Amino acid sequence: MILILQPDSDLQSPEYQLLLRYLNSLSSITHQVRHVQGAGQRLTEIYLLGDTKTLSRDFMRSLPLVRRVVRVQEAYRVLGRHGQEDFPHNFEYNGVVFDQTNLHVFAGLCAVDTREHVELMMRALKENGQVCTRMGAYKPRTNPYSFQGHGKKCLPYVFELAGKYGIRILAMEVTHESHIDEITQTLEATGYPTGVMLQIGTRNTQNFELLKCAGRQQNYPVLIKRGFGITLNESLNAAEYLASEGNRKVVFALRGMKTNLGDPHRNLVDFSHVPVIHRLTRMPVCIDPSHSVGSRHKSPDGLLDVMHVTAQGVIAGANMVLVDFHPKPSTALVDGPQALLLEELPHFLEDVQIAREAYLKRCAAVNRRQAAA
Ligand code: PEP
Ligand code: MN
Repeated sequence: MILILQPDSDLQSPEYQLLLRYLNSLSSITHQVRHVQGAGQRLTEIYLLGDTKTLSRDFMRSLPLVRRVVRVQEAYRVLGRHGQEDFPHNFEYNGVVFDQTNLHVFAGLCAVDTREHVELMMRALKENGQVCTRMGAYKPRTNPYSFQGHGKKCLPYVFELAGKYGIRILAMEVTHESHIDEITQTLEATGYPTGVMLQIGTRNTQNFELLKCAGRQQNYPVLIKRGFGITLNESLNAAEYLASEGNRKVVFALRGMKTNLGDPHRNLVDFSHVPVIHRLTRMPVCIDPSHSVGSRHKSPDGLLDVMHVTAQGVIAGANMVLVDFHPKPSTALVDGPQALLLEELPHFLEDVQIAREAYLKRCAAVNRRQAAA
């Protein structure tokens, strides 16, 4: 059971003390208090653990400061929606708000290769009004002899250039706890010119120790990719690891599933699950069309498959798009064949906007019909 208190409840107030005294008096039920700093207000949620079946919802709702009482299913205790339509969760990081209703594009390099390419990418983003990007420094590779990313060496210039071009957040994969420390040390040394969203890649979705590390820290939000060969339930439980350790700034990414049935795409595109994750959890949902499609193939209508699947995710309500671009894909050290060109960025963004407007129209239509019913 979760007790959701009035927004911005005063934790020093006599009412709050009274509430805690009551909760402490319950035998065989323990509680954990969690605070969520949302974009305008702080929300306090109290998780009651143990035999809560005997507690009456009406009575719990009558306790001081309690605004709502939610009975939670066992699964996704913190991140789950638990059947509640109106169970909001948003977070703000470095001036950017994430929730299940808005949309951000993170176009950028799959892997940082040269300073020059980073600068060209960042400049193109600024010219197109973008404040988020992706920049891979630590690359998990299938082949041990493939380029493994420049690691901490590239962080100073990546962060400085991000600051120079007004980039507020970089999505950056980490594969080891030490990478989080390296990011923090470099941000400190460079004076925090930008922010970082830690990315947990599909190969690490069930690396529970890494998840615990990313969950224990509260400095950075986390983008967790769906595991490419496990069930959705297993991947959502992996996301819950982050939240159970205290970090609720979590975005869940769909990136396609590994199966030959995905042919001719690199992975079987799973963006039809965007609304499913909205229904099951409170997480914003990201789509990664680049790692899903894996090529620059185009259909006869002139649109790249990467753009087609992006539109499919956005029209289903996706909240973030993580997409590979490169100034010169033929020289890219990782995933060049799927990268879009910088000159394609304006068209890509326009196409996203068209799909987004269609999604908003669909929402307006259903709301109108529900209001009339
Ligand atoms: C990536 O986004 O660079 C990446 C490696 O993705 P995934 O973990 O989905 O393969
Ligand atoms: Mn990649």
